[in-house]
Amino acid sequence: TVTRLRPFAATVFAEMTELAIRHEAVNLGQGFPDSDGPAAMLEVAREAIAGGGNQYPPGRGVPALRRAIAADRARRYGTRYDPDSEVLVTVGATEAVTAAVLGLVEPGADVVLIEPYYDSYPAAIALAGARRRTARLTADGDRFVLDHDSLHAAITPATRMLILNSPHNPTGTVLNRADLTAIAEIACEHDLLVLADEVYEHLVFDGTEHISIATLPGMAERTLVVSSAAKTFSVTGWKIGWICGPAALIGGVLAAKQFLTFVGGGPFQPAVAHALTHELDWVATLRDSLAERRLRLSAALADTGFRVHPSAGSYFVCADIRPLGADDDIRFCRELPERLGVAAVPVSVFTDDPASWRHLVRFTFCKRPETLDEAVRRLRFAA
Ligand code: PMP
Ligand code: GLN
Repeated sequence: TVTRLRPFAATVFAEMTELAIRHEAVNLGQGFPDSDGPAAMLEVAREAIAGGGNQYPPGRGVPALRRAIAADRARRYGTRYDPDSEVLVTVGATEAVTAAVLGLVEPGADVVLIEPYYDSYPAAIALAGARRRTARLTADGDRFVLDHDSLHAAITPATRMLILNSPHNPTGTVLNRADLTAIAEIACEHDLLVLADEVYEHLVFDGTEHISIATLPGMAERTLVVSSAAKTFSVTGWKIGWICGPAALIGGVLAAKQFLTFVGGGPFQPAVAHALTHELDWVATLRDSLAERRLRLSAALADTGFRVHPSAGSYFVCADIRPLGADDDIRFCRELPERLGVAAVPVSVFTDDPASWRHLVRFTFCKRPETLDEAVRRLRFAA
């Protein structure tokens, strides 16, 4: 392995999923649903395969999907993207992020992350030969909020891009308008690109509003918005994502993307176009059901003795293990599948400051009610 990729040898999701399988634990570690997306969407994919739609799609993605993405964002956020030049279909949000960093950040430049960060961000920065600097979320009572001072401190003359993720994996934090406005002001003042990872944009609870930073003054011209069918339509294995932004920036992303994968997921693309156009009621039902499941799991974790941080969005809830007499999240998660028959993910691995985060573990509530019931039964038995 080349030096710059050595820190990224194995993802924590793979390790915890393997432990879950070995100990027949309920896997609340890796964030993937164990139920299918809307039936009509699955049918469109089957029809595309049966109808011979099995060759390379166009480089930027099938036109119907690009039009559906642009129409969806115009309808929900009022942001306008030209489907021909400002929308690019990618192999999941993962490729969108990596291609954006490779295509738009020079080696040696700085990219700012907010920790805890999603695990692919630092790896993408390393692939590009760029450097990461981190701002952080901080606990304010039970909730996590952006530490504005840390964000100011992370900006240098070499900063080119800031990567944001809201709704946030792993904490379930949804950044509010004041936070996004502060970030936007910093981006405008220092002329930064903002890569906004919005894969959980639909999955916000209790009336919380997801705001796309691209809608704020001065931001449309410098923001790349990333999203994905994975979480919205429960198809994490399809790997259909997208990125939207100004044509010149999308050109940079495409320059990298065409040599990473060229194109991807031909027959899935018309299915996702269908879903974005016709299945948003299904997504609303998913959101309500996830909101319920989150409360049920959070209550069971609290009964078991964890201190649970409320989650306002995403697939995830974080819990403090210190009331259980533990203080090492990695060791805790390595032992949990055998001890309680439930798997989770340590949070400190998503930071550059593990000492400040190793009291936290992440659980996903994106599983079927029966799956969660079994996890809850095991947790309550332990309590
Ligand atoms: N960003 C975040 C914040 C995620 O949680 C995930 C996966 N769960 C991704 C990106 C990757 O999305 P995809 O599966 O579409 O590549
Ligand atoms: N994004 C998913 C999570 O956070 C996992 C994706 C992966 O396994 N790389 O759990």
